[in-house]
Amino acid sequence: MKSQSLVTAILLGLLLFTLFPLNSLITSVSCSSFDSLDFSIIILPDTQYYSRDHPEIFTNQTQWVADNAVDLNVVFVLHLGDLVENGDSVSQWENAAKSMSILEDSGVSWEVLPGNHEFAGDENLVNYNNYFGVGNFSGKSWFGGSYPSGTNNNNFCFFSGGENEFLIFNFQYQPSDAVLAWANTTVAQYPSSRVIVVTHEYLGLDGERTEEGNHIWNNFVVPHADQVFLVLCGHIHGEANRTDVVNGHQVHQLLSDYQDSENGGNGWLRIFTFYPQEEEIRVKTFSPYLNSYETDANSQFTLSATNVIPEFPFLGFTLPIAIATIALIFYRKKLSPNPK
Ligand SMILES: [Zn+2]
Repeated sequence: MKSQSLVTAILLGLLLFTLFPLNSLITSVSCSSFDSLDFSIIILPDTQYYSRDHPEIFTNQTQWVADNAVDLNVVFVLHLGDLVENGDSVSQWENAAKSMSILEDSGVSWEVLPGNHEFAGDENLVNYNNYFGVGNFSGKSWFGGSYPSGTNNNNFCFFSGGENEFLIFNFQYQPSDAVLAWANTTVAQYPSSRVIVVTHEYLGLDGERTEEGNHIWNNFVVPHADQVFLVLCGHIHGEANRTDVVNGHQVHQLLSDYQDSENGGNGWLRIFTFYPQEEEIRVKTFSPYLNSYETDANSQFTLSATNVIPEFPFLGFTLPIAIATIALIFYRKKLSPNPK
């Protein structure tokens, strides 16, 4: 009987541990609504008109990110492409580089990708690679690699959040089959990472994928829908959201581009805050330039993140342990029908 009590105690202990893992016990003590597992990524949509006409608004955005990086636990800053309006304008590249250097100086992880306006002619990404080349990123702990080799035309990066590992794939405007083949080979090396795809053109205002969007969807997102939970794009002026379910996995796909607003975009950016314990990502559209939030339904919303961060890392054990514990309790009761 003693050994049965011991086994029951161990099983009960395991059951409690799997239901209430250590991190949730620790964080439940915290009074803050923003706990140690929560984290944010920041999205900078098309900045091309700022680089041309309003560099101060671009700088205001990156300065705000730097100033709030600790409070929001910003783990990564992403750009949706079209850093500049004219790929051959050195002054616009200088402006973009100056604004983004604030992130560099703040120590926040960041990367970029080429939109259509980065090209200074057919296939010419010389200026892009001069100002945002692989040499700027290759020494960073969060930089995974790039394609084609020696360029920063496409790249992948790492970040950690909520005790999980994430991968970001930044695809150039209209990535070729070769780019997607590189990404397929790369992602296969990180089967347990959650994946975010960022590319310039993907969704239209009607929420339908463009032809290029479908190219990426069919050749990268769908084959890895167990990992890819978020696709972000700009290019088309406005906002649109869609969520598809592939083999039970939700894939959220979001367009944001504010360049039609006054002053080339009025400084609007997006804050994605991940709340692992609530299994939610809360998206906010904010302008540090206006000090204002855009709160309509397609600018501020919550995404389900059930397949993003496993809340109970040992969930696979919970059910068998629960059944075993209950079975053992019943078995003991049957052996001693009149406990004294
Ligand atoms: Zn564009």
